Amino acid sequence: MQKQALLYAGKAKSVFKTDDPDLYVMEFRNDTSAFDGAKKAQLERKGEVNNRINTFIMERLAEAGIPVHLVERLDATHALVRRLEMLPLECVVRNVAAGSLCRRLGVEEGRTLTPPTFELFLKNDELHDPFVNRSHALAFGWADESQLDEMERLTLKANDVLSRLFDEAGMKLVDYKLEFGISEGQMLLGDEFSPDGCRIWDKATGEKMDKDRFRQDLGDVIGFYEEVARRLGVPLEG
Ligand code: UDP
Repeated sequence: MQKQALLYAGKAKSVFKTDDPDLYVMEFRNDTSAFDGAKKAQLERKGEVNNRINTFIMERLAEAGIPVHLVERLDATHALVRRLEMLPLECVVRNVAAGSLCRRLGVEEGRTLTPPTFELFLKNDELHDPFVNRSHALAFGWADESQLDEMERLTLKANDVLSRLFDEAGMKLVDYKLEFGISEGQMLLGDEFSPDGCRIWDKATGEKMDKDRFRQDLGDVIGFYEEVARRLGVPLEG
C-alpha cells in the first residue's frame, strides 16, 4: 500500500491517504513535544520504537476483543490503519496518581487508585486539552450516550489487559490516554499506544520509563523506550 498525499501532520505522527479511501498510512516520526508543543526535540529511533511498541500493544488488545484501527505495520516507521471519524475526546485511565491529577487535586504522586479512574479531556490545543465530563460531551455533541459508554467500557477493558501485561514484564502502567473513532458505525481504538502517551514505572525501582523522561529532562529517553519494548517482548529488529 503506497502512501499518497499528506492529510495531516500532528506533533509526532503524520497521516497519509492511500489509493483506498478507507485506509490511511500513519507515520511515526522522531519529533517529540511536551507542554503543548512548547518543548520540542528530535529523538533518534523514536518513530521506529513507537511503531513497534504500538503494533505489539494493538495486537494484544485486538486479541482481547477490543476493535482497533491498526491493520498492519508496513515498515520501520509506517503503519496501515483504517480511516476513522475521530471523536474529539481523550480517554485517560489512571492506576496510580501522577501528572495533572496531582496538580488538580493536590494528591501525592504514587498513590494507588482503587478503582482506577476514568477521565475525559477535550482535544483542543488552544485550550490545553481541558478536563471535561460526560454532560459536557453530550451538551456540545462531542459524543452521544452510547459512544461515551462504549469508550469507557473499552478503555477500562484495555486497562485489564495492559496492566497485567506490564506487571508481568516488571513494570507498572501508571496511566495512559486512548482516542477512539468511528468506522462504518463501529467504534474502534485509534491513534496509538506508546511510551509517548502513557506513564510506565519500573516495578522494582519506580524509575520512569516514558515521556516524563523527556518532560523532566531525565535523559536517555529512547534507551528507556527500548527497555520497555525488550521487557514486553517487542522485537526491535526485523
Ligand atoms: N496524555 C497524552 N496526551 C495528552 C494528554 C495526556 O498522551 O494530550 C497522557 C500522558 O502522557 C499521561 C496520561 O495521558 O500518560 C495522563 O496525562 P495527565 O492528565 O496526567 O497530563 P500531563 O501530566 O501529561 O500534562
